[in-house]
Amino acid sequence: MSDVATLAQRLLDGDRRALARAITLVEDDRPEGWELVKAIYPHTGVADVIGFTGPPGVGKSTLIGALTRARRAAGRTVGVLSIDPSSPFTHGALLGDRIRLTEHFLDPGVFIRSMANRGALGGLSEAALQAALLLDAAGRQDVFVETVGVGQAEIDIIDHADTIVLVLMPGSGDSIQALKAGVMEIPDVIVINKADHPLTDTMVREIRGVLSLANLERPPEEVRASWRVPIIKAEATLGRGVEELVDALAAHRTHILAGGQLDERRRRNLRNEVIAIATARMRRGLEEELREDPEFQRVLDEVVQRRLDPASAAGGLLARMRSPTLGGA
Ligand code: GDP
Repeated sequence: MSDVATLAQRLLDGDRRALARAITLVEDDRPEGWELVKAIYPHTGVADVIGFTGPPGVGKSTLIGALTRARRAAGRTVGVLSIDPSSPFTHGALLGDRIRLTEHFLDPGVFIRSMANRGALGGLSEAALQAALLLDAAGRQDVFVETVGVGQAEIDIIDHADTIVLVLMPGSGDSIQALKAGVMEIPDVIVINKADHPLTDTMVREIRGVLSLANLERPPEEVRASWRVPIIKAEATLGRGVEELVDALAAHRTHILAGGQLDERRRRNLRNEVIAIATARMRRGLEEELREDPEFQRVLDEVVQRRLDPASAAGGLLARMRSPTLGGA
């Protein structure tokens, strides 16, 4: 058997070291990584993938730690992916802020990995998606994907989850603004953590307001049939609200399974993924092709000298690539 086939088999058997090695391969954008994902892909689509997003410091890691405890107690295996584009660390370095998950480090039923490498093809978001597939194939029943930070790349990753949990705390008003403005899509579940704060109920009301405003823009029959976003008050450090969160996640899963939305959602996400990978490869191919291309340099000179506008230059480039006589693709 080839190395990749051996690694794939070990991974499918649930070997943790194989899983760690596999994630490093995709993170480094190594060809073996893509080969591996190809080999294990038919075994994916089994895990419940839950994405957690929200501003730094609201308690996402603490909450995931508490949820992990609950899922382990229920006999489920767990994989946690922490995506942190702002971190200088890489290769699963145990980030300082992931310390909240330390109690799970010795449990073979829990696999925790931080990813911060931006060098991969298509960026961190693509690498994270491949890593989630690897966790799924390795038999992790629950995969929690946590993003640190609030940029577009993190939102892209979260979009691939079956259920999206937005974690807030009293005072994190920016996120409410983002929801209101439609910058952030309405999540499936909202957790207000640190709920011992006196402004918690005010925040719950504010969020309810935003959610009903969003519903006003939809036909009433659609609103009636749709999922009602639960707002859960939690204190992650004490494990409060975790049971409600577990129930809400199960209810959401039942809802999306019953309505066929899970398949729809996964189809949409996979479509985006295929296009994202294709786009990244095309871009890389183009950059490589043009690096030493004298004709492109000449066209660029014209753009710099304001004799040709950028859009026309791009149009010429695309036309040239499509033309077989000029050796384009
Ligand atoms: P993340 O950046 O969203 O992952 O947040 P962390 O899980 O790292 O938590 C940030 C800080 O908030 C840590 O010091 C936690 O101990 C603390 N924290 C988390 N949950 C609670 C809570 O329910 N109540 C209080 N008072 N502190 C909390």
